[in-house]
Amino acid sequence: MPPGSQQCPDHLLEHLIRGQRLRVSVSYRGRYAPSPTGALHLGNLQTALLSWLQARLAGGQWILRIDDLDCPRNRPGAIERIQSDLRWLGLDWDEPCVLQSARTGVYDAWLNWLRRCGALFACRCTRRQLAGHMVYPGHCRDAAGHWGLERERFPAWRLKVPCNDPRNSGDVLVRRSDRITAYHFATVIDEICLGITDVVRGSDLLDSLPSQLSIFDALGQESPRFHHGPLLRDQAGRKLSKRIASAGLEPLRTNGLEAADVIGEMASRLSLVPAGSRLSASELLLEIDPKVFQSLCS
Ligand code: GLU
Ligand code: ZN
Repeated sequence: MPPGSQQCPDHLLEHLIRGQRLRVSVSYRGRYAPSPTGALHLGNLQTALLSWLQARLAGGQWILRIDDLDCPRNRPGAIERIQSDLRWLGLDWDEPCVLQSARTGVYDAWLNWLRRCGALFACRCTRRQLAGHMVYPGHCRDAAGHWGLERERFPAWRLKVPCNDPRNSGDVLVRRSDRITAYHFATVIDEICLGITDVVRGSDLLDSLPSQLSIFDALGQESPRFHHGPLLRDQAGRKLSKRIASAGLEPLRTNGLEAADVIGEMASRLSLVPAGSRLSASELLLEIDPKVFQSLCS
């Protein structure tokens, strides 16, 4: 792979150095990265709680990042809603909230460099050509690609992942044909540049791990520790019905529930406190048995 931090142009090297500095300035920097597609539902909030608890138990920092690159899916008012729900629950974040939409220049700088290094290729596969393939089948890998329009479409860009890559992630999509930076790429660049040491997220994102690790490898950067927490279950351990799991805080608040009720409920579902507990997020921090907590996010 061509990129290694030595050959990296100065402006990108600065990103790496800043990230490294942030990482060593504290031993733990976590992040929570919701997409503003609507209000956070209880499943998202449980993940936010786990991520916040781990950071605070470690005496570390917790960064709020909004994954708002996929503009067509963003909902007006969702960012403010997410922030006010987290605040209401007492899940406070450090540093100003990071918006991915404000960082497109950073992603583009990395993409340009990778492209100049020959680490990317243009992919013009149609949705139909890719249907049924779990892993990119490599159609365009060796084609003499270019970035311009062809049949009125721009190409997508993929990272050349070595064929013997043990993760079998295939050639990872880094820029979509609608010219939006792909989630995998933006998230990896952000973990590096923001100096993230630990990611706690739901186990529904486990599938995205191989692709993301392949990007860290290609950039010659160490990945953060990844922890995938349990998805929301009811007290009997069953997966919650979509209707309940997808409900946000609004109906609960309308019914007069307070933050302590919601934190107590989420924490008891995670077996961190007995059922029926009412407590604030900061009280929960003092209650937790670190061993029980550790076993939750592997
Ligand atoms: N923004 C992505 C989501 O909400 C998640 C990102 C992540 O935690 O890696 O599904
Ligand atoms: Zn292709």
